[in-house]
Amino acid sequence: MENCIFCKIAAKEIPSTIVYEDEHIVAFRDLNPQAPEHILIIPRKHIARIEALTANDTELMGRLVFVAKHIADNLGLKNGYRLVFNNGANGGQEVEHIHLHLMGGRKFSWPAG
Ligand code: 5GP
Ligand code: ZN
Repeated sequence: MENCIFCKIAAKEIPSTIVYEDEHIVAFRDLNPQAPEHILIIPRKHIARIEALTANDTELMGRLVFVAKHIADNLGLKNGYRLVFNNGANGGQEVEHIHLHLMGGRKFSWPAG
């Protein structure tokens, strides 16, 4: 998708610190981390937000979570971590390409702000 910052990061047209990539998924460090470890996990496929998902995307969305587990293992996040999809305006989504936040290295409160 043209003019999508995360598509450009996946294509390496914009630099980022990539921590994991495969055929379907790219994961990179958040530019403005909200925790000692803050990774964004995205599908290579441009999907703007949850409402745009189709049944064909179910495996892809599962891959996001499985990659989160793999990265959390690599980072040694033994005391847990938070996984978040901000979705739409009220959900606090700023970048219109689905991304799973993996945040760790500190304790998070609940409910989220
Ligand atoms: P959202 O609010 O959409 O859930 O989160 C978007 C996230 O993308 C934010 O945490 C923001 O810091 C991060 N971000 C925005 N632009 C860039 C960028 O160009 N590079 C990287 N690595 N992260 C970005
Ligand atoms: Zn995109």
